[in-house]
Amino acid sequence: MTAKKLIAANWKMNGSLALVEAVTQQLTSLSSSVDVLICPPATLLAHFPVSQHYSLGAQNLSEHSGGAYTGELSAALVIEAGASYVLVGHSERRQYFAETDELVCLKMQQAVSAGLTPVLCIGETLTERQQENTEQVIAKQLAAVYASHPELLAKSVIAYEPVWAIGTGESATPEQAQTTHAFIRRQLAQFDSAVAAKVRILYGGSVNAANCQALFTQADIDGALVGGASLKPAEFMQICQSAKE
Ligand code: PEP
Repeated sequence: MTAKKLIAANWKMNGSLALVEAVTQQLTSLSSSVDVLICPPATLLAHFPVSQHYSLGAQNLSEHSGGAYTGELSAALVIEAGASYVLVGHSERRQYFAETDELVCLKMQQAVSAGLTPVLCIGETLTERQQENTEQVIAKQLAAVYASHPELLAKSVIAYEPVWAIGTGESATPEQAQTTHAFIRRQLAQFDSAVAAKVRILYGGSVNAANCQALFTQADIDGALVGGASLKPAEFMQICQSAKE
């Protein structure tokens, strides 16, 4: 468990200049005892004022560093727009854009070599959980990164997001989340115990102001990746406040 929690907002394909304004206003009163990351649509990144209260992240990046890839964004472009983090391997990208573990690794490499911190999203589907394959799925997703580039996990944040909990209103229970986070940490320790102790493991999946406190008291939960509730500035602020040391 790391000392300071990280609360990350994933706006997905939502938001507006008005929401940038509302969220930045809310966060001005936040203390430094929690780290906050906002991942808006890339077009909004450059509209956030530079602030000590939050960092910015992109929701995706190209596996290429530049060139003739119409519609894509490189690590350098999102850095220039203000990002210092990037979400990689979100389940919506794996599901709707056919992102494989191999592609996720390439994107992580691009991110790390350009100086971005990847937030590697992993998690099982409902069927995989019902078949009691949660640990197997997660072990495979982590091993895919470690096998190709062992140095990347140490430079990443990990977000455990059970696919069945994303956007459904059905969060994992604190105990379910803790069990899987502890498993993730044990897996990381197999690769490198120093990395396992220091890498932040966020929980994501229907986190809100009402359920976050119980999640944050779990030993291996180092913060949250918040989708829907991050679009409501006051509720997002409450979640950030609950995560203070
Ligand atoms: C997400 O998209 O990463 C997420 C966790 O969404 P929600 O909080 O809406 O379940």
